Parts: sequence; structure tokens; C-alpha cells
Amino acid sequence: MFELDSGESDSDLSKEGKPKRRPGQLNGKFWQVTLESTRRGKNYVHSCGEELLQVTLMVSVPRGYTGPYGSGIGYPEEVPFCPNCEREPQSAGYDSNGKLTVY
Ligand SMILES: [Zn+2]
Repeated sequence: MFELDSGESDSDLSKEGKPKRRPGQLNGKFWQVTLESTRRGKNYVHSCGEELLQVTLMVSVPRGYTGPYGSGIGYPEEVPFCPNCEREPQSAGYDSNGKLTVY
């Protein structure tokens, strides 16, 4: 066993005590977390009961890959996440297959 003395210890675990998963997972064209959520008015509520949050990330598009604004041109992307089940998205870019990946 080990003890974490920083405030980060609880941010890595959900309120159920499970490790938070990687944010920004796509299921086809849709964010996995929104597929698991119910729409309530303008907001989405995740299956755990928490309301989804959203951050805007600048997606870096490497040369040779074409984003919505053209080859090698970065663009903003709004990434939803569940603050209870997922870590907060920090950055986004294209992987070696040209697929959008959020970290
Ligand atoms: Zn959740």
C-alpha cells in the first residue's frame, strides 16, 4: 500500500473508487461518453449520474494529414467528458493512422 499526499489522489479515481479511464474515446463518429449518457435539456447526464463537462482542445494535425481545415492545419474540437469516470482531456492530435486521439 502507498499513500498519496497530493490532492491528485482522488482525481484519479471515480466516486465508486474505480480508476478513471482515458478521455475522448470515440465510438465510430460519436464520443463514447455521450453514447452512454442521457440527454436532459441542453445537458447530457452520464450513466453514473454525473453531468458531462466539455473542454475545447486544439487538435494538432501533422503534415500529410487533412483535418477539416486542410492539410496540416490544426483546429478546435469540443470534447465532452464525465468528470466522475474520465480524466480531464488535456490534448488532442492525430495518431499515425490519421485518427483523432485525445489524451
Ligand atoms: Zn460517469
